[in-house]
Amino acid sequence: MGCRRMVMEQFLIGIDMGGTNVRMGIVTPEGKVLKKAQYRTDVSKGGLALFEQLVSNLKDLIRENFRESNQLIGIGIGVAGPIDMKKGLIMEPPNLPALKGFPLGDFLSEKISSPIAIENDANAFTLGEGWVGAAKGCKHYCGITLGTGVGGGIVVAGKILHGARGTAGEVGHMVINPKGPLCGCGGRGCLEVYASGTGIRRMALEAIEKGKGKGILKWSGRDPQQMTSESIFKAAQSGNVTAKKIFNEMGRYLGLGLINLIHLFNPEKIVIGGKVSRAWDYFIGSVMEIVQERSMKGPSEKLQIVKAERGDDAGILGAAYSALKRAE
Ligand SMILES: [Zn+2]
Repeated sequence: MGCRRMVMEQFLIGIDMGGTNVRMGIVTPEGKVLKKAQYRTDVSKGGLALFEQLVSNLKDLIRENFRESNQLIGIGIGVAGPIDMKKGLIMEPPNLPALKGFPLGDFLSEKISSPIAIENDANAFTLGEGWVGAAKGCKHYCGITLGTGVGGGIVVAGKILHGARGTAGEVGHMVINPKGPLCGCGGRGCLEVYASGTGIRRMALEAIEKGKGKGILKWSGRDPQQMTSESIFKAAQSGNVTAKKIFNEMGRYLGLGLINLIHLFNPEKIVIGGKVSRAWDYFIGSVMEIVQERSMKGPSEKLQIVKAERGDDAGILGAAYSALKRAE
C-alpha cells in the first residue's frame, strides 16, 4: 500500500440530472462508484438557477474529496434531452420545458476547468448499464427507462447512437398508436403515453371514469389526484384485477415498442430500468407474449430482455463513462 500512495489516482465525476433530483458521484475509471451526493431541485426556476446550483454543489464535491495528488479526468452530465451534441444545447425537453434552449456546454465550460461531456439522461442510463451493468460486454443493445416519461438509448457496434444533431434514441416517442392519446412531444399515441408512470396513471383514471377499478383508489387514500403508478402497482400486488389489467395493457404497448427496436437494431439485449420497472412481474408477461407473437424470428431469436442492474447509479455511471470516453 505504501507504494500505491505514490501513484496519482484518477477519478471521474458522473452527474444524473433529473426533473426533481440531481445525483452526482465520484467514479473510478473501472466503473466503481466511490462516493455519492444528491440534492433536490426545482426546475420551475429555470435553467440558469438550476445549473448555478449544480455548479456550486459540484465545486463542493470536488473541494471535499479531491487531494492534490488526485486527478479529475473529466465530468460527465446526463440531462433530460433532447440535446444538440455539437453545440451543447438543451433543445426542447417535453417534460422539462424550463430548460428549453439552455446553452449548457458554454455555461459549464466557463465555470469549470475540467473537461465536460454532456449526454442525454437516458443515453447515460444505457451507457452505465453497458459499462458495468446488465448489458456488460454487449456491443449491440438498447436501454429503456420507464419513469415519469419513457427514455431510451441505442448502442450500435459499441457506440451510443447520436444521429445528426444528437437526438437519436427517443424511444419513448415511437408512435405505437396513431390515434392514441396526446403526448408531451405534441404527437399522439407515443410509447410514453402508455408505458410511463404518467401513462399508467392515465389508464387508471380512465378505468375509474368508466366505473371500473374504484378499488385501486384504496392505495391512494381514496383520492384520484393522489394516485401514482406506485399506488397502482401496490393495488396490483394486492390482487386488484383492474390494476393488473392496466399493467398487462402497458406491457402490450411496451412490447410493440420493443418489436420496433428489435426489427430496426437487432440488439443482443434490451435493458429495462426506471422506477416503473419495479412492476416488472406485472408487465413482462405480456411484453414477452407480444414480442414472441409478432416479431421476426431472425432478429429476435437470441435476444434477451432483461432488468437493469444498477438502479439509480446507472445514470451517474453512464455520465462518467461518457467523460472517460471523451478523455481517451
Ligand atoms: Zn411523444
